[in-house]
Amino acid sequence: MILNWDVHASDGTKDIFYCDPMVLTMSLHQNPTNFFPRQGWTHEIGAEAGEGYTVNVPLPSGSGDAEYLMIFDSIVAPIHRQFGPHYLIVECGFDAHHQDPLANQRLTTNGYYELARRLLLLRKGGIILTLEGGYNFETIGQIACALFSALLGEPNPFPEELHEGQMGGEDLLSYSLMSGSIKSKAQSPRRADSIEAVIRQLQGSLGKYWALPRLT
Ligand SMILES: [Zn+2]
Repeated sequence: MILNWDVHASDGTKDIFYCDPMVLTMSLHQNPTNFFPRQGWTHEIGAEAGEGYTVNVPLPSGSGDAEYLMIFDSIVAPIHRQFGPHYLIVECGFDAHHQDPLANQRLTTNGYYELARRLLLLRKGGIILTLEGGYNFETIGQIACALFSALLGEPNPFPEELHEGQMGGEDLLSYSLMSGSIKSKAQSPRRADSIEAVIRQLQGSLGKYWALPRLT
């Protein structure tokens, strides 16, 4: 399984494996409306024998820690559990950080740390992180340290203070798969609506291939 969390849709990887059921590709990226590479929509689910083995998650512009973790728990983790890959390769972009100059996402080092911590919770198979984009030379080293610290079970050495509309600490841990459902804790109702709309689109396009938790 290949998981992309670079801010840009993983279009090349998607194209290579689009008809291949042996490799499940999943991409979490900024909504590609007027944003490179202008593809990566929820209806792009693979073709032929590979139908259902491509997952595209176009996150609303401005998505931060809460939105990424909600997608991880409601889409990434359940599909990973059902597919059961031998290895998980992460296209590990740092350009979804809020101080990256290229895009509009708002992940913090706290969010990257929690994403890496959740990788460990998947438990099945090996994990490989490969470097992708990242254009703020001050923050990319800090994000890398946060990621490795999470994988080593150590505290985040570069925790960030929160900005308006972001979540952290115990809030980040408050998502839980309770009896097969996901409770939204996103703070902004507008953004919560948007991320929930994306999750519902994915439930519609992928529901016949994968059992996905309901939103409450
Ligand atoms: Zn990128």
